Amino acid sequence: MKTLILHTENNNEKEISIQKAANILKEGGIVAFPTETVYGLGANALNEEAIKKIYIAKGRPSDNPLIVHISDINMIHTITEYIPPKYDALIKAFWPGPLTLIFKKNDKIPDIVTAGLDTVAVRMPDNAIALELINKAGFPVAAPSANISGKPSPTKGEHVIQDLMGKVDAILLGEDCKVGLESTVLDLLSGQPTILRPGGVSKEAIEKAIGEKVLDNSLHNVGDKQIASSPGMKYTHYAPKVPVIVFIGSLDNMIHGIQTMKEIKEKEGLRVGILATEETKAFYSGCIYSVGSREKIETVAGSLFHVLRSFDKEDIDIILSESFTTEGMGLAIMNRIIKSAGYQVMDVGGET
Ligand code: AMP
Ligand code: MG
Repeated sequence: MKTLILHTENNNEKEISIQKAANILKEGGIVAFPTETVYGLGANALNEEAIKKIYIAKGRPSDNPLIVHISDINMIHTITEYIPPKYDALIKAFWPGPLTLIFKKNDKIPDIVTAGLDTVAVRMPDNAIALELINKAGFPVAAPSANISGKPSPTKGEHVIQDLMGKVDAILLGEDCKVGLESTVLDLLSGQPTILRPGGVSKEAIEKAIGEKVLDNSLHNVGDKQIASSPGMKYTHYAPKVPVIVFIGSLDNMIHGIQTMKEIKEKEGLRVGILATEETKAFYSGCIYSVGSREKIETVAGSLFHVLRSFDKEDIDIILSESFTTEGMGLAIMNRIIKSAGYQVMDVGGET
């Protein structure tokens, strides 16, 4: 398949590119586009044949439902009959933004979008190009992350080109994604508010907006109950080509643990990569990537997926990764790191 690359650097070019991308969506094609979280791979959410193409291009398991993106609150009526009153405060506080809410779906949304569930995940992205694209298309756009399934999500146009060139109709290029991690998926339909996937809006911010405690089980290995409520959580995700081990504990113990494990692995003849931070990178030698500053956790969110992808270009056999606080955005960061490691965690002790 020939993939059209659409640029948006200057205003004139931007208008034409977004219009071309919207036309492709209207014709039932699939287009990758930037959002504030990660790049998405979009298709008309009301067109079953178009949605099938997304699953094929990504190699996505068919039981992993998609998030539907809207550009205007009125578009929600195409998707659901009912907005639970509890959602009002959340929509007001976080849309447009990285919060996905679960609604009861109506008959217009094909089962393939929701993988057979009677609920549908919806959000309004906080990115001018994404909003204009959906607005010009005139229908809700279903869009998972624009990567090959299992790989780290794309936060730069170059990541999308690496993964999807020749597999999609067009790639609409924009700036690097400013949040860098996917949206928080929140379910308020089934009893206590529950985070199905931590992301760009923190648990603390949600609790403040609704004045209620929110459940979250995202750092534990998935059990059957969680699989049933959010099918996507059971799959290997965000994984670099080589194995990852995450070190959890106090900063001093973590640094010491990684230094020791590096020596052990090197004695076994393995080449080691280290995922460190601005504050700690000087303590290591060899192949080191800093994901940002512990003092500014949003810098870590912003570059985590890029760093995980960068390790694939290195001649290494294993990655040893530091860990982070689980407060605020740290929860989503730790969820992604632990999943990239396939839950291989080493507890080195001490207060985190
Ligand atoms: P991605 O499209 O890669 O950002 O992944 C979408 C995430 O949203 C996956 O973890 C899905 O399991 C989750 N999701 C989508 N729709 C639903 C739904 N109706 N109920 C629960 N989780 C959903
Ligand atoms: Mg994804």
